[in-house]
Amino acid sequence: MALHMSSLFLRTLREDPVDAEVPSHRLLVRAGYVRRVSPGVYTWLPLGLRVLRNVERIVREEMDAIGAQELLFPALLPKEPFEASGRYAEYGDNIFRLTDRKGAGHLLGPTHEELFTLTVKDMYSSYKDLPLALYQIQIKYRDEARPRAGVLRGREFVMKDSYSFDIDEAGLDQSYQRHREAYVRIFDRLGFHYVIVQAMAGAMGGSKSEEFLATAEVGEDTYVRCTSCGYAANVEAVRVPVPDAVPYDGLPAAHVEDTPATPTIGTLVDHLNERFPRDDRPWAAGDTLKNVVVMLEHPDGTREPLAIGVPGDREVDEKRLGAQVEPAEVVAFDELAFSQNTALVKGYIGPGALGTEGTSGIRYLLDPRVADGTRWVTGANVAGRHVIDLVAGRDFTADGTIEAAEVRVGDACPDCQHALETARGIEMGHVFQLGTKYAEALGLKVLDQNGKLVTVVMGSYGVGVSRAVAAVVEGNHDASGIIWPRELSPVDVHIVAAGKDDQVFVAAEEISRDLEAQGLRVLVDDRKGVSPGVKFKDSELVGVPTIVVVGRGLAEGKVEIKDRRSNERREVALEEVVAEVVREVRGG
Ligand code: ATP
Ligand code: MG
Repeated sequence: MALHMSSLFLRTLREDPVDAEVPSHRLLVRAGYVRRVSPGVYTWLPLGLRVLRNVERIVREEMDAIGAQELLFPALLPKEPFEASGRYAEYGDNIFRLTDRKGAGHLLGPTHEELFTLTVKDMYSSYKDLPLALYQIQIKYRDEARPRAGVLRGREFVMKDSYSFDIDEAGLDQSYQRHREAYVRIFDRLGFHYVIVQAMAGAMGGSKSEEFLATAEVGEDTYVRCTSCGYAANVEAVRVPVPDAVPYDGLPAAHVEDTPATPTIGTLVDHLNERFPRDDRPWAAGDTLKNVVVMLEHPDGTREPLAIGVPGDREVDEKRLGAQVEPAEVVAFDELAFSQNTALVKGYIGPGALGTEGTSGIRYLLDPRVADGTRWVTGANVAGRHVIDLVAGRDFTADGTIEAAEVRVGDACPDCQHALETARGIEMGHVFQLGTKYAEALGLKVLDQNGKLVTVVMGSYGVGVSRAVAAVVEGNHDASGIIWPRELSPVDVHIVAAGKDDQVFVAAEEISRDLEAQGLRVLVDDRKGVSPGVKFKDSELVGVPTIVVVGRGLAEGKVEIKDRRSNERREVALEEVVAEVVREVRGG
């Protein structure tokens, strides 16, 4: 049955909701698609639910097409499997935890790796059962620190999550590739512009990982792309091109110098230029090696200091560092910590005090730019003194490298050395190779061809289904309202009965019936006593791509077809309107 505006559970709003910062949030609320219940928790009204179901249908069709099987897990989960995987602690404040009447702990699932792993373990035991891919479209719960932008970042949201199970890495590669291709088809059909970026495997561990980002100014994810080749990566995952090692021969010996009152890079560079001028060029911040000490807090509550050496013209990027040390949290290295590590002289920390071989024993990781043979000015571990011509590899070594320095526009692309630029996006989907992390933790093993027990290799793949509704609106709207891509529109045609005469309403109903008979979904604005102007405005706000206006022209046997996307209108004869509209809708 066609939807009728006179009875549809809908109230469009002329005013923007006060809490809405981004267009999709404003428009989805104003056009009556969603309604807020509490921060990050929304009700899907009839029109919104139709769009959400359309997204689900597209996702379902593409998942089924790669042979993934749908099932449905509960959202209410016992905490034990999450304790076994370590995620009960890792997720921290981000999970909703609850206790039942008997005192048993539960949580509302933020994602379901554990449950999938345990269920496959329950039911399967042989290599013959693999490969296997399972998925669900289900509500997830995360107590996000900053729920924002309506359904874009909710605390309750719909996710499609799937998991692949293979006997070995080669199998995982194939499963991953199949999912990746399905995601390309899903996001092509959803109708927004997106990029695929390299990502960190994050809290999940594992190896290969890519994100599908909807390109959008309002996006919370900053990614980096090459201005020349196809390289694109999440800022957390950007790799620094490692410079070739420089031979040490002929480099001057390191020498410690008095540099009074130079605790910052700026004061140090000024002092160097005044007292130790170079022949070739002035000293710059990039000639200095800055050593930053932080404290890591591990999920089990233990603390561990970590020192990071970066060129002095760069800051340590909190997000990049955070991604590298996950699941540990980075907290400040405070005065108390300094007082407990007397080998560290604030403002003058140098490699001599760092590393497992250094006087403090603090683990020391270097930015990859600090390659063997590079020369640095850095702290001498004595107040007011620095060491000049300290050569990496010759005079000091660290415990390894870390990608934690800030990424800048103009940095070299790791693949082709051309300049990188930054852009913003919304994470819509994520594919990653879990490897054996969960199978190992939860004991998912099967017998291989030789009767030997082997650990199953897994992949995990998510799509933000409810987030996609908002992302589609971000990419498809104008000043008047939403402009749905056909596949997502709540209906195919929006008929506006614009006039007072009964004839107008009768004709609108007839057209509606005929279109429905052709299999189209129809919304009729049959409200009496509502002006044509208001109806037109509502039709633009609601955003159905094809609008039929039955109005003044009816007396001459004409109605108008309006394309919401191009705003083009044309008059057609009443007898032809059904065929015309069907052709348009089917034509895309
Ligand atoms: P984000 O970095 O945006 O917090 P995530 O990396 O934590 O997302 P995943 O665990 O990879 O998210 O979840 C899979 C997909 O679920 C994401 O790609 C995203 O589209 C969607 N999603 C995640 N968190 C939310 C949320 N709070 N609200 C709506 N959708 C979400
Ligand atoms: Mg993710």
